[in-house]
Amino acid sequence: MSATGSIERPQMPRAPATRPVVTHDGVAVGYGTRKDGVTGATLAGFLTHHRRTDSPYSEGQLWHPSTPPVVRVASGATPQYIQEVREAVEIINRVLPPDWQMTFDPTPRQEDQPFGHGTVWYPGEITVNYAPSEERGRLGGFARAGGAPDGSPPFNEEFQTYVTTSSRVSISTDHGGSSAHRRALVVHEIGHTLGIGGDSWAEIYKLYPNSVMTYSPTQHGLSINGRGVLYALDRDSFRALYSVLQPGMTVEETYDALGDWMDSTMHISGEFAVAGDSVTFGAFGKNGFMEAYARGGATPAMNLADNAALSGTAAWAGRLLGIDAESSTVAGAAGLSVDLVTLAGSLDFTGLESWAAGQTPGAIGTGALWGDGDLGYSISVRGNAFVQTGGDDGVVAGRFAGAAHEGMVGTLERNDLAAGFGGTRQP
Ligand SMILES: [Zn+2]
Repeated sequence: MSATGSIERPQMPRAPATRPVVTHDGVAVGYGTRKDGVTGATLAGFLTHHRRTDSPYSEGQLWHPSTPPVVRVASGATPQYIQEVREAVEIINRVLPPDWQMTFDPTPRQEDQPFGHGTVWYPGEITVNYAPSEERGRLGGFARAGGAPDGSPPFNEEFQTYVTTSSRVSISTDHGGSSAHRRALVVHEIGHTLGIGGDSWAEIYKLYPNSVMTYSPTQHGLSINGRGVLYALDRDSFRALYSVLQPGMTVEETYDALGDWMDSTMHISGEFAVAGDSVTFGAFGKNGFMEAYARGGATPAMNLADNAALSGTAAWAGRLLGIDAESSTVAGAAGLSVDLVTLAGSLDFTGLESWAAGQTPGAIGTGALWGDGDLGYSISVRGNAFVQTGGDDGVVAGRFAGAAHEGMVGTLERNDLAAGFGGTRQP
């Protein structure tokens, strides 16, 4: 297995998991759910299981949530090891919340002696070192959380519990596994420092065989889910630890906090034709994480400003389809108008309505009012793309489609909504 091959992005499906359910003003609306996670009860059981042991991680200790760590490799590591750590950080960052991402700093952390011999803690840092197991005193990998001057984790007044503000990961150079296994070992050890469990994992494997945090009897010591490394249980664990869970939560509080955790992603999609080509747009999401997309349509033959067939103000009308922070589906009308001299315009979403998570979206007018029913943006066109210049909160990324700008398509991303939109030029 190559250590440098591309890594699947688990939350980004190649094709939307939808089937057609209704038509909104000429746009075929698709809807579907895909079970790609674990239930809240499974997740809570996994994340609290280790508390029945007397492991050093018995508190289920988290980094203080406002300060994602920087990951650095101690001096002396080979370029191959450094690359493996970089990839391990990327693998975990893909499933951590967008607002809680680790940073990989390739600058080596200068150290004279291997971890364990007069250990030093670097605030805000996960320091990864590589050494022969003879120097480290054991084979494989291990992680330790600390931060206070004496090497223990500091007490946090806000959460009234111990939190991690610094940690160390150590990996054997004579581990014996492939590069991919060594990389998975780094993922596993960073998983410990981020707050996943103790180390009686050979037993836990019987309960949770599909986790990189458990030891497999067959896969060179670790369970690895192919190139993506992480299983659904791992992905949901990392997400939950730094979104809905908080430091110091009891077992009972952890079960409560994960009571509404969804094991399936909601998908909504729209499809319509622009000058004979299919254009699709939509969004998918669960547990407060949403992503929008828009694709298809021919590239215009010239920039919008150079389209001699258009003058004055051009207008496009169509639909918006999205997923909100509660995983409800959201639909509405989309209208774009552009002054062809100034290339400034407006993008308005009106009649916004929603259907609860798990409920199939119906015909226009059958949903519940979403927000106050509309969102409006001023936009500016550059070439054949447009972005928001003002208006409501959110980021608009749009473009024109069709040789003669017969269509427009784009995405709207907000804290409470991710949506795709598209429409056709009005005569
Ligand atoms: Zn472990």
